[in-house]
Amino acid sequence: MSEQPRRGEHTRAVRTPVPPQVLQRPVGLPVYRSATFAFDTSQGYADVLGGTAPGYSYSRVDNPTADAFAAAVADLEGYGVDGPVTAQPFASGMAAISTTLLALLSAGDHVVASAELYGGTYSVLAHVLPRFGVRVTVVDAGDDAAVRAAIGPQTKVVYAETLANPTMAVADLPALAAAAHDADAVLLVDSTFASPVVCRPLEHGADIVVHSATKYFGGHSDVTGGVAVGAPDILAPVRALRIDLGGSLSPDDAFLLHRGIATLPLRVHRSNETALQIATALAAHPQVERVHHPGLPEHPDHTLAATLFDDGCFGAIISIDVRGGADAAMAFCDRLRLADVAASLGGVHTLVGHVASTTHRQLDEAALAAAGIAPGTVRISVGLEDAADLLADLDQALTSR
Ligand SMILES: *Cc1c(COP(=O)(O)O)cnc(C)c1O
Repeated sequence: MSEQPRRGEHTRAVRTPVPPQVLQRPVGLPVYRSATFAFDTSQGYADVLGGTAPGYSYSRVDNPTADAFAAAVADLEGYGVDGPVTAQPFASGMAAISTTLLALLSAGDHVVASAELYGGTYSVLAHVLPRFGVRVTVVDAGDDAAVRAAIGPQTKVVYAETLANPTMAVADLPALAAAAHDADAVLLVDSTFASPVVCRPLEHGADIVVHSATKYFGGHSDVTGGVAVGAPDILAPVRALRIDLGGSLSPDDAFLLHRGIATLPLRVHRSNETALQIATALAAHPQVERVHHPGLPEHPDHTLAATLFDDGCFGAIISIDVRGGADAAMAFCDRLRLADVAASLGGVHTLVGHVASTTHRQLDEAALAAAGIAPGTVRISVGLEDAADLLADLDQALTSR
C-alpha cells in the first residue's frame, strides 16, 4: 500500500479531526449546532429520512437539542395523563400556534374560539385562516351554552387560553373539552400564562396544549420559542407540517429553553406567591379601581382556578385598572423605577404595559369594554424581585403625581 498523499491546507481546514465519541452521559445539555448529519452509508441516510430507522438527518426535521427541550415539556405537561404524551418544538409561540391550527384545519372547516385571545392568535384566526376557507366564530368561552350553540358539524377546533389576557379569565377546561368532544372536535389550549407548574390542560380534557416558550419556559427574556404538546397520533400532522412550513426550533434556542426548565417550578412558585401578595395589596390601594387576578376571592373565576390549578398557584400576571384612565395609567407605568415598560411576560424581570395602547390597540372603545378592559388597565408580569421592593415601587408610582 502506498502512503496517502498529504492533503492540502483547505481540505485539512474543512476536514478537521472528527470529535471523539463521548461515552459518558453529559450532565449539561450539549448543543448540536449542526444543520445536517453524515451517514456511513447511503442506505442509512435513506432509512432515517424515510422514517424507517431512528436518527437525525437535517435539523429542520429533528435536532437532538430541540428534542431534549420538547421531551422535557412533554414530561411536565403529560403528568397525570394516561398514555404517551409527546411535544413538537417550534421557533416561536406563533409558529407553534399557526402550524397546529393549519395542521388541524382544511377549507370548509370551522373554529370556535374564545373572545379573549393573544393578539397574534386573533390575527391568524380572523385574517389568515379565512383566506383558506376556514370559518371562525368568536364566543365568550365562559358561557357553556354559547360555546355549544356556536359548535356545528364543520367545527374541528375549539380554541381557548388557560388564563386569558388581560382579565385573567380562567378557561373551564372540562366544560370546553366536553363541548368539543361531543362534536368530535379538538380542544386546543394556549397555556402560556399558566405554565405546566400551575395547570396541565391535558389532565382536564384538552387534546393539544401550545405555549409561547419565550415566556415561562425560557424565563429570562433572552430567547424565543414555542411548543405543541399532545398524544403522538394527534401530534403527527403537527410534526409533519412543522417540517414542511419550517418553523422549527434552533439548537441554541433549545439549549436556553431547556436550561430555563430546570428552574421553572422554582420561578413559577415564587412569582405566583409574589403576585398574590401584590394583587392583595393593590386591591386595597386608593389609586386602583380594580385588580384582575384569579387568586383574589372576588375574581369571577377564583373557584374555577382553585379547582383546576395546583395548590396556591393562580399565575403571576396581574391586571390593574388605574384610577384616572389612560393618561394616569401610562404616567403610572412611566414612574416605575424597578419594573420595566416592555412587551412579553413570564421572565425574571417584572414587566408592565398599558393594555389599551399596546397589546389591545386594535380594539375600539366598545370592543375594549366588551373584553373587560378599562382605559386605565395595566398588565403586570410579576418577576423574581423581592415582593417588598416591587410593592414599594408600585406604591410610589401610583401615589406620586
Ligand atoms: C407571547 C404569546 C404568544 C406568542 O408567542 P411568541 O413566542 O411571541 O411567538 C402566544 N400566546 C400567548 C398567550 C402569549 O403570551
